Amino acid sequence: MPVRAVLFDVGDTLWHAAGAPPPAEFRRRAAERAAAFLRARGLPAADPAALARACWDAIEAAMRAARAGDLIEPDYPRVAADAAAALGVPLDRAAAAEFLDAIYVSGAEGGKVAYPDARPTLKALRERGFRLGIVTNRAFGGERFRADLREAGLDIDWDVIAVSVEVGYLKPHPSLFRAALDALGLAPAEAVMVGNSLAEDIAGAQRLGMPAAWKRSAADADGVVPDFTFDRVSELLDWSLLAEAARVR
Ligand SMILES: [Mg+2]
Repeated sequence: MPVRAVLFDVGDTLWHAAGAPPPAEFRRRAAERAAAFLRARGLPAADPAALARACWDAIEAAMRAARAGDLIEPDYPRVAADAAAALGVPLDRAAAAEFLDAIYVSGAEGGKVAYPDARPTLKALRERGFRLGIVTNRAFGGERFRADLREAGLDIDWDVIAVSVEVGYLKPHPSLFRAALDALGLAPAEAVMVGNSLAEDIAGAQRLGMPAAWKRSAADADGVVPDFTFDRVSELLDWSLLAEAARVR
C-alpha cells in the first residue's frame, strides 16, 4: 500500500523553543493578563498572579496525570475553575475557559521558532504529492494553535490538524492518530508519522500499523525501534518510503 500522507508532531519536531524567556517572564505575562481579565469582569481576586499560577499549575498537573494514565484529555476549564474556587475566586466553567484563553502566552512570545528546513521540507513533500497533517498533544487548540503555526511560518494549508484537546485523547492513544487518518480517509499503512518522542509518536503510530520516523531526541521509551531516524527535518526526503510513494503516484 503506497504512502499517501505524512503526519507530523510539532514540538521539537517542526519547531522548538529557541529563545524562550525565563519562567519568571512567562509568569509575569500571565499575571498581567490575569489582572486585566479580572478587572474587566469586576471579579474579586486579591492576587491575580497567584490565580494565574494556580490555574496553570493545575492544568499542567492534570495533563501530566492524563499522560501517565488513561490518555483522555482532561477538561481544562473545569480544572481551572476548581483551582480558582480553591483560592476563593468564583469562575464558572465558561469563565474559566475564557480566563485560560486570556492568560495564554503565545508560541512566538515563548520563543518558538520553526527549524529552518521545516517549511522547505514540507513544501518538497507536498510537491511529491503527499498530503500533510499534524498530530499533536496540546492543551490549547483552536485559533491559538493556528496563530502559533502562522507566526512560526508553519501555515502550509495542512490537510488535517488533529489536536489532543480538540479530539479528546492524547498521543499515544490510537484515537488521536485515527482522527487524523479518518479525516484523510486513509488506512494506517497509507500514512507515516514523524515525531521526536519514541513513546508518544513512534510507538503510538507503529501500534496502529503506521511506519514512523524519529527525530533523534532524548529517548523516552525502551525497546521502540523507529522505521527511520534522522537529525535534520530535510533528511526525511531521503526516507525510502517517501521517495517510493512519490514514484507510484
Ligand atoms: Mg514533540
